[in-house]
Amino acid sequence: MQVAQIISGKGQEIYSISPDSAVSDLVAELSAHRVGALLVRDAAGTLVGIVSERDVVRGLATDASLVQASVESIMTKDVVSVRPDFEVSDLTGLMTEKRIRHVPVIDDQGTLVGLVSIGDVVKVRMDELETERAALVDYITQGG
Ligand code: AMP
Repeated sequence: MQVAQIISGKGQEIYSISPDSAVSDLVAELSAHRVGALLVRDAAGTLVGIVSERDVVRGLATDASLVQASVESIMTKDVVSVRPDFEVSDLTGLMTEKRIRHVPVIDDQGTLVGLVSIGDVVKVRMDELETERAALVDYITQGG
């Protein structure tokens, strides 16, 4: 399965925030949308970074007044992304190797088409395992 299939299954909603926004706004958005990361896009819509709840936690560990700081000051600028034809089975390795749980999907034209989270990847794997289990039960009880 390719990541394009995950994107079409969960819709095109991509939550993002401006680099100039305050961390307090970021926390409110993460909570409102019940997500763990937001893409950071400038006024022109260009992807300039990614910011996750982990950045907030790490920042707070050294600066209790972090909520007043800008998103830009805590985001990761070097964004790891994949193309829509990237295999979902390869995403687990990429996320583990890079220690990230969110990966934007960008097509050949450079258009942002979605964001895949580790939760999406786990769901695909669970569905595959359930399909395999059901097929095995069929095989055992009905002789294939
Ligand atoms: P996460 O595990 O996704 O919550 O993020 C862990 C760290 O990796 C945070 O510092 C994020 O800003 C960063 N991060 C998350 N996703 C990406 C990504 N696709 N590319 C680069 N950095 C990322």
